[in-house]
Amino acid sequence: MAVMPGVAYRPINYDSVDRMARYDVVCLHTIVGHDPAPAAHFSVGAGGEITQNRDTVYQSAANYTGNYRVIAIETEDMGPEFGSWNVNDGHAVPAWTDAQCEAIARILVWCHRTHGVPLSMAPNSCPASRGVGYHRMGIDGNWAGYAYGGRVAGCEVWTRSPGKVCPGDRRIRQLIERVLPRAGALVAPGGGVRNVMHQEPLLGSDGGYISRTLPMAVGSNSGCYSRVWLSIAGDLEVRATVWFQGGPNPAQYVDQVIANDDRWYREIPSGTESVIIHAASTGSMGLMLEGQPK
Ligand SMILES: [Zn+2]
Repeated sequence: MAVMPGVAYRPINYDSVDRMARYDVVCLHTIVGHDPAPAAHFSVGAGGEITQNRDTVYQSAANYTGNYRVIAIETEDMGPEFGSWNVNDGHAVPAWTDAQCEAIARILVWCHRTHGVPLSMAPNSCPASRGVGYHRMGIDGNWAGYAYGGRVAGCEVWTRSPGKVCPGDRRIRQLIERVLPRAGALVAPGGGVRNVMHQEPLLGSDGGYISRTLPMAVGSNSGCYSRVWLSIAGDLEVRATVWFQGGPNPAQYVDQVIANDDRWYREIPSGTESVIIHAASTGSMGLMLEGQPK
């Protein structure tokens, strides 16, 4: 089960629905109508109400050849909040309401924390691209006169309907300039979603190599830390090896390369007594331990 807490969960019949293969992209759509749109995982109404019609274990039917790896969010665009508009004019799709922007940011945060989808824009619909996207990225059409282009040659086709403007220039601009920064703020220290218990810069601006051993709190704070995060800023790459030691299990480690403004996290196994991090980088990065209230 992968259902976002606090939303209206109205599952479809999953009998003939394939499972997701992986989680690379969260893609924004516009409905040309009223929510919910059960072809997507999530729908966001004009007032910010969120409906989840598909557990994210299962695929959506909104992104065609990308369905195996794309989480889909549909958004309402009809009703008094949007005024009347000509659905045959690709430039006429109205902007999201304030409440929709906030709700979409919350969904992006949930997808980031639950499935590891990066809170940064995916560059295109190619299979190796990860992050937040919009439907037009995977749509062929004549995009002259539009602020944002469509499918890059060779990348995945995300619709059977070439020329669809989904989700409209205004909504794409809001996604890039407002919603994604808001999602980033929600997961930043003090942003209200994470309860960060530990933060320190790991490396200086010259880059280099660092090793840290972080004892897990014992006694009153035992078990308080739930995740270790590494975040980097700027155009650089970090190679990190993270060891979890102690408890009933042998030491476990993960090896990870993080690049370009991304964040990475891993759940800390229960019983862990210390987390050891070895990291090499071409620039500065931040380390955070996240503690979640139990
Ligand atoms: Zn769409």
